[in-house]
Amino acid sequence: MTERAAGVVTAVFGPLVRVQVGEDALVVPFRRTLHWAEGIADRRLVVGDRVALEGKPPDSIVTGVEARRTTLTRRSPGERRSRVIAANVDQAVVVMAAVSPEPNPRLLDRFLVACNHAGIEPVICFNKVDQGTAGIDAWIGDYVDAGYELLLASARTSRGVGCLTRKVAGRTTLFPGVREFGFWDLAPSELQAYFPEIARAAAGCSFADCTHESEAACAVRDAAQSGKLSARRYTSFLKLRQELEATADRA
Ligand SMILES: [Zn+2]
Repeated sequence: MTERAAGVVTAVFGPLVRVQVGEDALVVPFRRTLHWAEGIADRRLVVGDRVALEGKPPDSIVTGVEARRTTLTRRSPGERRSRVIAANVDQAVVVMAAVSPEPNPRLLDRFLVACNHAGIEPVICFNKVDQGTAGIDAWIGDYVDAGYELLLASARTSRGVGCLTRKVAGRTTLFPGVREFGFWDLAPSELQAYFPEIARAAAGCSFADCTHESEAACAVRDAAQSGKLSARRYTSFLKLRQELEATADRA
């Protein structure tokens, strides 16, 4: 009788994958013709894939892949299509230093849009806060206003580490480099849904398809000009929208 098991892919190394099966981490090959669940378009094993294995360890082999509940995608410069880089992730933690290397809120905005679009809960963690928070003081309030949860941590003093540990317990969490997030398959008109505070302000715009850029009566632009909405987040939104429009034109 063939021995069967189920596991989760935790790393991919060319022809081999590391699969967590219960308490055991196995490094195993996969069948050349895997059985893919219906609906999986990008047929490459990625971290987070739930897989079926056959055979007794250490001679197990991956034979099939279950449907992906969520996917995180990335498009590298020069690639026409985005590809799946992780599956079945519940939440993604972005860790940025509070002072050095200089934190970049524009990268954070991209990360938040990518997570929200993929249905993955983003967790924003600023590390090294023992060195001060001068690099983030001017703009972290924007994210609190938008409704995101922020964790302030210091690996050196252990401040906030327990909080992060509790946050990730029992959930499939991705700790990606924030630079992983380039482009994603998103229509320019969809973008505002992933900027919660802009989506809220947009309810007051005169046109349902308002781009919040040049329309005469725009509640979003008014809010940014009067300081009710972060002017920085508004600018970030406009820049991302222009990027998506340029991508849509090329496609
Ligand atoms: Zn508007």
